[in-house]
Amino acid sequence: MVAKDLIWGDRQRHLVEQLQQQGIVDARVLKQIQTVPRHQFVIRPWLNHAYDNTALPLEYGQTISQPYIVAHMTQLLLAGQSLLKVLEIGTGSGYQTAILANLVKTVYTVERIKILLDKAKQQWQQLALNNIYAKCDDGYLGWQAHAPFDGMLVTAAASEIPEHLVAQLALNGRLVIPVGQAYHQELLLITKTPQGLQRQFIEPVSFVPLMKGLDTE
Ligand code: SAH
Repeated sequence: MVAKDLIWGDRQRHLVEQLQQQGIVDARVLKQIQTVPRHQFVIRPWLNHAYDNTALPLEYGQTISQPYIVAHMTQLLLAGQSLLKVLEIGTGSGYQTAILANLVKTVYTVERIKILLDKAKQQWQQLALNNIYAKCDDGYLGWQAHAPFDGMLVTAAASEIPEHLVAQLALNGRLVIPVGQAYHQELLLITKTPQGLQRQFIEPVSFVPLMKGLDTE
């Protein structure tokens, strides 16, 4: 047990070094990569790759995002500030959610596949994270009951910027979202200003698609 924790610790440190080389500078984000146990969120066949800087398969054809992307999206979302209320769309494994939970006051997260959400909840419980509110629903609709949000992070790709999300974003709030067609998208940082939406292209990315409606399998 102790030996294994040491191995994970070494791998986490190595991953942090790689992210620093890729331009992640927010010390709070790097600390989360160093301490949140990604190995608890990956599925068993990929356990040994938990701290590789790559996306990995989850059940139901979904993926746990690449650590660099998780770190970069989080850094863009925070922009060096402290946020109170953040909405995440696409919980998946719950790893990105756990990182956010340690950095903002309250995280709301929406996932359309119930079994994934139930597994993620178990992991948060084990990590004693009690500032996460989750629901199984279509994330295109956001979470109106808790709007407005200071920040939003979408971890599946939309073909266009979902209007409900924009409506639920607070003034000066930031939305980090991949937009484009299947597996070839642009990561956008959208800021809601008094003059309207300000869009900033960040980098090309490859996410699973944001699906419409609930999972009915
Ligand atoms: N952040 C997650 C990424 C998971 S992949 C992680 O690192 O583990 C994207 C997730 O978005 C999948 O779990 C998928 O089921 C979910 N998703 C896709 N369309 C959705 C929608 N309309 N509403 C909510 N979740 C959605």
